[in-house]
Amino acid sequence: MSSKKLIEKAEKTSLLTKEEIVEILKDNSINQQLFNTANRVRKNFVGESVHLRGLIEFSNICKCSCKYCGLRKDNSTIKRYRMSSQEIMRLAQSALSYGYKTIVLQSGEDAFFDTEKMCSIIRKIKKLGFAITLSLGEKTFEEYQAYKHAGADRYLLRIETTDKKLYENLHPFMSFENRKRCLKDLKSLGFETGTGCLVGLPGQTYESLAEDILFFKEIDADMIGLGPFIPCPQTPLEKASGGTFESALKVMALTRLLLPDINIPATTAMETLHPNGRIIALQCGANVVMPDITEGEYRQQYAIYPGKADVQNTPLEYKDKITVQIQSIGRTISDTFGFRNNHLKNN
Ligand code: SAM
Ligand code: SF4
Repeated sequence: MSSKKLIEKAEKTSLLTKEEIVEILKDNSINQQLFNTANRVRKNFVGESVHLRGLIEFSNICKCSCKYCGLRKDNSTIKRYRMSSQEIMRLAQSALSYGYKTIVLQSGEDAFFDTEKMCSIIRKIKKLGFAITLSLGEKTFEEYQAYKHAGADRYLLRIETTDKKLYENLHPFMSFENRKRCLKDLKSLGFETGTGCLVGLPGQTYESLAEDILFFKEIDADMIGLGPFIPCPQTPLEKASGGTFESALKVMALTRLLLPDINIPATTAMETLHPNGRIIALQCGANVVMPDITEGEYRQQYAIYPGKADVQNTPLEYKDKITVQIQSIGRTISDTFGFRNNHLKNN
């Protein structure tokens, strides 16, 4: 079957085999058709509204050594910070005034925030009326369970790549099996579970990207965040060539075809590689934006890769900017929590 026919088939059935996905990934002559189809599927399944989730990057301290990430513990050139609970709450309060319905708490794997501290922050934020997404890395079942009981709703943990060998090469002292165990635990605890991958990792193949997409479907992920790998100075991969905007967009669009009703953010990494990256992504399958509401110096210091988009805007400036941009493409800002399976009620 031609790539064109395969895209039509995916729109009707939400199904593609590994070989079929590879075929589409390889063929750049059909990109516009793929993007238009993903946009239509997004509209039919999750509607026109865009969910804004306020992102607080509360600690850039990390015990891990992921070879692509600027926050890896071996990088001694970045200034490390850890917000106090009061600082986190101040940012959450300001998110209320921006009208955001979800707070995303993200950090490096920072042991200072033990279960008790994390649960206390979750409870306080929950009291303000937010849905809560966590992105804190690998934890035990008991820790995830405590976060859930404290009121967390969603958890983001990218598999990064489903190529076990590549995964283990990129993540010293971490195990692919444990990563998968975390995702399984999160699902079983009732979290809306998000995963995703990096596109353009050294040694990554079309076949392994196809397997990533099929993995998202296999675990019935509720959210998929993916973006291009952007080489970061002072990391072992600083000289790698990195992913392209277009290839990340293709993987995202294919994800929308196969998982039509999930939440897909237009990621900061996409905006970093293309000046209009988020808005383009919203027109190729995405339906979520996660504005960074971290303030002051911390905004620059959460330096996972260079040139991170939007660090120059204040959170309020960014909120005004993204609102105008979203409206200019005929979309609306959601005033609901934006849970999966609630999309009809949301719109
Ligand atoms: N520590 C948590 C974790 O790893 O799940 C959350 C924070 S981590 C900075 C969030 C995501 O940043 C990772 O899942 C990874 O995909 C992405 N990331 C890290 N370094 C990157 C790079 N150089 N280019 C693009 N994305 C990167
Ligand atoms: Fe730490 Fe996450 Fe960066 Fe890995 S990707 S070094 S776990 S912050």
